[in-house]
Amino acid sequence: MSTNTLNLKTRDLSLNDLSITDIGDDHLFTGLETPMKADAFKLSDEEKKERIAILFEEIMDVMGLDLTDDSLKGTPKRVAKMYIDEIFSGLNPVNKPKVALFDNKYQYNQMLVEKNITFYSNCEHHFVPIIGKAHVSYISSGKVIGLSKLNRIVQYYAKRPQVQERLTNQIAEDLKAILETEDVAVIIDAKHLCVSSRGIKDDTSATVTTYYGGQFNTPEKISELHNYINN
Ligand SMILES: [Zn+2]
Repeated sequence: MSTNTLNLKTRDLSLNDLSITDIGDDHLFTGLETPMKADAFKLSDEEKKERIAILFEEIMDVMGLDLTDDSLKGTPKRVAKMYIDEIFSGLNPVNKPKVALFDNKYQYNQMLVEKNITFYSNCEHHFVPIIGKAHVSYISSGKVIGLSKLNRIVQYYAKRPQVQERLTNQIAEDLKAILETEDVAVIIDAKHLCVSSRGIKDDTSATVTTYYGGQFNTPEKISELHNYINN
């Protein structure tokens, strides 16, 4: 048995000692990759929407809602369409933004900062919104990408059931791979509705997560980046 397997076992054991409420309210997460089943794409998007509509109708029915009411009867189909086509569309790799790389013709070799990218995600523990801003930065290794692609990459990973730490790291890892450099930084500042509208009901706190790769991982670069973001 490898060390990795041992570590995994130990971690699983400790997670098992916690209740599902502890895991959710403490927002523990298990890895960089969004946990997906091997057969996640066996059903087509249309088949998934049909299944979700049936299942969501059952949830509403169990809660005692009258599905013959004109206002409610379309809700299961609306929710199914919204899940697959919009708020969880980032689960499907076919929706990943296509990114073209360009040569850095201007020889711009300082940090480029795309700040205040508004995103809407959903907490994977409670399925309620995470609303925030992402600030993304990189130093070109010779290649550049269109500015709107930085925004699209943030939106793609946000449109999954998420935890903020994973969202931060997924954006950073993808940018590093696309831009062929370690010199990538991601800062996310977000409000979690599962913290403000339920549970501890704290309406004023926000969560900040950061990733500083390569050249960004020095006090000087971090303070330069924060100056741009705060100005
Ligand atoms: Zn939550």
